[in-house]
Amino acid sequence: MNSVVAADYSIPANGDVTEVAPGVLWLRMPLPFDLDHMNLYLLDDIDGWVVVDCGLGNTDSQDVWERVATEFLNGKPIKKVIVTHAHIDHIGAAGWLCRRWNVPLWITAGELQTGQEYFHASEDSVAQLRAEKSRFLHRMGMSSEQSAGVVDLSSSIATLVQPLPVDQYEIQDGMKLEIGNRQWRVIVSEGHSVAHASLYCEALGVLISGDQVLPRISSNVSVRVDNPEGNPLLSWLHSLERMKELPEQTLVLPAHEYPFHGLRQRLSELDLEHRDMLTRIEQACTEPQTVMQLVAVIYRRKLSLFDQLLAGGECLAHLHYLLAEQRIRREEGSDGCLRFTR
Ligand SMILES: [Zn+2]
Repeated sequence: MNSVVAADYSIPANGDVTEVAPGVLWLRMPLPFDLDHMNLYLLDDIDGWVVVDCGLGNTDSQDVWERVATEFLNGKPIKKVIVTHAHIDHIGAAGWLCRRWNVPLWITAGELQTGQEYFHASEDSVAQLRAEKSRFLHRMGMSSEQSAGVVDLSSSIATLVQPLPVDQYEIQDGMKLEIGNRQWRVIVSEGHSVAHASLYCEALGVLISGDQVLPRISSNVSVRVDNPEGNPLLSWLHSLERMKELPEQTLVLPAHEYPFHGLRQRLSELDLEHRDMLTRIEQACTEPQTVMQLVAVIYRRKLSLFDQLLAGGECLAHLHYLLAEQRIRREEGSDGCLRFTR
């Protein structure tokens, strides 16, 4: 079931811009992935623009930004760059944008730490991180071939992030940012990433939701290698609940797909989807299963290497939630793999 109502705007062509609320521009940025686009937003701040999310750190994004600056920004400069979170499509071009317009980056402390992890000072730290990731993936039941592929893939993905700027300002939950004579409140959520920032403007009735709420697809919620015992699904479900405080008529501007109405309904659907997956995973644990064995049962289709990583991380997040609720047990086999049983 999907009950959101797409807002009445046609989707801009790749690299084009549409105004979706007074002083709020929607920029459609192409991505070279299965999910082939993202939505970025530009907020009119009187004598300049505030950018929310940036695209990948590649020349394609830079070309789009240069064209947008020439054609859509009325000759006004970019004054501030905000990123909702440190995933590559959101933060990739941030360093380049900040240097190009000589402006600071605004980001939560948790996301800044994640963003800095794309850059490793020494070869030793790279080798150590690769070893940690391989061990993490092995415990999930990935073959050494699969895990080597995944580790290589994450290293190559990290090259799509430009070095971060020196000037960084922290945004925090509840903070109000004054942009174009309007206040935008920062709402920090945990689960999809460490400290994801959404921006809500009461005067406009607009929520820039980043990856926190998408109209049709569900954001990935994964256990991360830097927090291998974490319970991100618990945080995620709490954060969905918290967002229900926002008015139902809010116009939601998400980072993927399309702007929509029907926020509370969508939050309830996302909650239900995860609870349904918890039940399915619990039921599949009739005998000891590794994470990747459960992925095969739950997803029932051939997954690309990248999707295996997302699916494995997400399955593990659900398993950790079930473990915390004592609905399943976990044991470590002599092969070093974790197995889960009802
Ligand atoms: Zn994301």
